[in-house]
Amino acid sequence: MSPTDGSTPLLTATGLHKSFGDNHVLRGIDLTLHRGEVVVLIGPSGSGKTTVLRSLNGLETPDAGAIIASGGLRIDFSAGVTQKQRLALRDRSAMVFQHHNLFPHLTVLENVIEGPWRVQGRPKAEVIAEARGLLERVGLGERADARPHELSGGQQQRVGIVRALALRPDLLLFDEPTSSLDAELVGEVLLVIKELADEGWTMVVVTHELSFAREAADHVLFMDAGVVVEQGAPAEIFGAPREERTRRFLTRILRPLDGG
Ligand code: ADP
Ligand code: MG
Repeated sequence: MSPTDGSTPLLTATGLHKSFGDNHVLRGIDLTLHRGEVVVLIGPSGSGKTTVLRSLNGLETPDAGAIIASGGLRIDFSAGVTQKQRLALRDRSAMVFQHHNLFPHLTVLENVIEGPWRVQGRPKAEVIAEARGLLERVGLGERADARPHELSGGQQQRVGIVRALALRPDLLLFDEPTSSLDAELVGEVLLVIKELADEGWTMVVVTHELSFAREAADHVLFMDAGVVVEQGAPAEIFGAPREERTRRFLTRILRPLDGG
């Protein structure tokens, strides 16, 4: 699917600003997401990546800027946000966090159906059938009745992804989905995300897994200190970065032990 086929974007954010007290964290972020597009967001710790995702998900309210989303949702943050707008924004996306945040006392299946059944109010039988199908798809069909602690970290994170999918969002947001995993478990989670990307899900992925980014991304944004320093196709950003800051960051990520 071409991200530049001229169709109406799924979501457009323009000029997002956010401060926490004196800390001006987002300094004018623009981001356009087309249906089926995979955007990878990279950048040093503290550059504002999580705040961008949280703003797209309605968990954080920017001080200025606008978000326009499909279905006629337009939010001008300078003018203030109604609760209805915030919830509408939240409904459009689902987030997968660094730590899966599964409920420890619920089974895998119960964790997955919680949102669509109890929060969205969809029929329980339908939600269960769909949840079982999704678990099957990520290789966890047999583990529906297990508790989270009985699963490996990689399996838990796959349940976290299924829980997001079960909400039927327009947009998936991944915030460093593999960074809390042991190295040998990273691959299985990235594989699931890559498959979802290939199926045409629209997603924003914050990650330091550059080989994944190279393979899966349609578009890469490099953020530093609250601005998008550079963006482009993965081949451009990883193969021939134009900005010194991008080059420095990539060198540091690729050779972390050199201390660059
Ligand atoms: P990243 O995800 O790129 O590491 P974040 O978006 O988490 O960056 O954070 C950017 C900056 O905003 C950091 O300085 C962080 O301490 C600050 N920050 C993030 N969330 C909050 C918050 N809820 N309250 C105060 N400061 C915050
Ligand atoms: Mg973060």
